[in-house]
Amino acid sequence: MNVYADNAATTKVSRTALDAMLPCFTEAYGNPSSPHHIGMEAAKRLIAARKTMADYLGAEPSEIIFTSGGSEADNQAIATAAILGSKKGKKHIISTKFEHHAVLHTLSKLEKEGYEVTLLDVYEDGIVRLEDVEAAIRPDTALVTIMYANNEIGTVQPIKEIGALCKEKGVLFHTDAVQAAGHLPINVKEQNIDMLSLSAHKFHGPKGVGVFFVRRGIPITAIIEGGAQERGKRAGTENLPAIVGMAAAFKEACDNMSVNMPKVEALRNRLIDGILKIDEVILNGDREKRLPGNVNVSVKGIEGESLLMMLDQQGICASSGSACTSGSLDPSHVLLAIGLTHEVAHGSLRLTLSEYNTEEEIGYILEKLPPIVDRLRSMSPVWKKMKEVK
Ligand SMILES: *Cc1c(COP(=O)(O)O)cnc(C)c1O
Repeated sequence: MNVYADNAATTKVSRTALDAMLPCFTEAYGNPSSPHHIGMEAAKRLIAARKTMADYLGAEPSEIIFTSGGSEADNQAIATAAILGSKKGKKHIISTKFEHHAVLHTLSKLEKEGYEVTLLDVYEDGIVRLEDVEAAIRPDTALVTIMYANNEIGTVQPIKEIGALCKEKGVLFHTDAVQAAGHLPINVKEQNIDMLSLSAHKFHGPKGVGVFFVRRGIPITAIIEGGAQERGKRAGTENLPAIVGMAAAFKEACDNMSVNMPKVEALRNRLIDGILKIDEVILNGDREKRLPGNVNVSVKGIEGESLLMMLDQQGICASSGSACTSGSLDPSHVLLAIGLTHEVAHGSLRLTLSEYNTEEEIGYILEKLPPIVDRLRSMSPVWKKMKEVK
């Protein structure tokens, strides 16, 4: 059996999104800036996609900028706030220790350019405290950027409350909503969000496309210069098939959210309960305030990498908490931020579900995982030492 349980890394493109995209390759293939009929056909679809994204975010079409994905949107949001802040002598930015690297690396770059960055603690439960945000805000704070939901441990942050606080203090608020979009409700007005990033491939849209939402009135900094696309704030011929696919996927995800959320949550809960029956396994991140599809556990005494390989041999696609892709031995900054030791963080496993997963697949994972853990522990010197100590 093949089980895809790595939906936080990326998702498969839905049939609806694919069907929406196909005519953009074959009929509406024009450049939306061209004044002839094929260009105009493309422009019409671009306008419709922008309106869909705006409608489902509670925004205006003029507040939507199409980007190449979540990373670009994060970069542009931070650049926008940094430039705006520096013009007013404000060069302090608040974020958290467990943001995505698209945010953290952008902030490190700014630090080298003379900005000051405060990274807030996220505690053992992986939740930012409102009072910490309040205490960190200074007269020279240009931006608060805090993710809506964490990509590794799935914890959901009090975005609306943080937004209200920032509004009251006159500080810009950006949220990386890449993991939340299409999975949790978003309304930028009700949630007091000034800027937001999302990415289509995390909600069954295509890769390489996303949205940078900017509230009207905020002067935007372009990070890609060139033509006048996106009102001069993001140059480059629009990736129309991807943009149209994103809008179709987002509409589908939002329209079906009230059905999919409880369904995925039930699968997740069964998976968590089943995995926690294994000896010496802990759940990472708050159990309640977490994404419907996120399971992240640390299996003591083993290496997450070996666990992944053995799961893959059984057809199960998952992810670990160490930076395997980069070949680095450092455990994830997210797991360290919630206080795990290097040793425990190394034994982490992330299984992320979507509405395409089934009860049968959960049963399959719960059947295959315990013997794999037993086998790895029987070969593990770390596990042997742990047992001796006890
Ligand atoms: C995936 C992800 C990103 C990056 O999005 P891309 O579209 O892959 O660039 C940023 N932030 C979070 C929280 C993510 O999960």
